[in-house]
Amino acid sequence: SQKAAGPVLEVRDLEVHYGPRRRRRRALHGVSLSVAPGETVGIIGETGSGKSTLARAALGLVRASAGSIVIGGEDVSAYGHRSWRALRRRGVIQYVFQDPLRSLDPDLTIEASLAEPLLIQGVSRQEAATRVRAFLSRVRLSDDLLDRLPGELSGGQRQRVAVARALVTEPRLVILDEPVSALDSANRVQILQILKELRADGVALVFISHDLGSVAGVADRIAVLYRGELVEAGTAR
Ligand code: ATP
Ligand code: MG
Repeated sequence: SQKAAGPVLEVRDLEVHYGPRRRRRRALHGVSLSVAPGETVGIIGETGSGKSTLARAALGLVRASAGSIVIGGEDVSAYGHRSWRALRRRGVIQYVFQDPLRSLDPDLTIEASLAEPLLIQGVSRQEAATRVRAFLSRVRLSDDLLDRLPGELSGGQRQRVAVARALVTEPRLVILDEPVSALDSANRVQILQILKELRADGVALVFISHDLGSVAGVADRIAVLYRGELVEAGTAR
């Protein structure tokens, strides 16, 4: 794998606003964050503090009104929709949301959903099928699920598929927005365990949660968002 020396994600003085011009509300203000290769950064904060906005900005799903976002050394701040979409589809930056139905296409079978990013990258069908099975077992799911639709899985199974999908392209950076908060404790523990294994593998993770307890066991470092500002950063372990 191509390991650059610099941070995988560098956010500088990020500013995000929502709403029409006359009722513009600031959701993020002066947020700076740097994530090194293989590092897991936890982001916690109360509801409405801007956590999901930060995730969406780093994925190009909302536009920043000021500041810069550098991914793998490339300044992507000025990217248009198409370039951001290409970046996500190529699997350079991957994501898992709280609701896995937002990370998975409801009309694609699990197999097609997992294979899609690999096929886009030019991997052969046969190689894709092999890798899909490997990743499925990695998230402790059976091959029997491959021809099902996401709607035919339990919440915990779905979330594990979403994690597998985020990883199948071997991205250097995965952004997880509340990946375990919709799960029961057995599934939560299992997903957290999978995240710890990824950490050991050198994937950089931005792990967002309102729940310090979930983040604390996984993150190397924790940053706190308060009313759109990053107010505190500390070492978790
Ligand atoms: P939660 O823990 O509830 O998920 P959060 O920390 O993820 O909260 P955000 O979703 O980032 O918070 O929201 C930050 C602020 O931006 C909130 O005041 C919210 O109401 C506002 N906001 C979020 N999305 C939009 C939107 N699409 N349009 C307008 N305002 C929005
Ligand atoms: Mg949120």
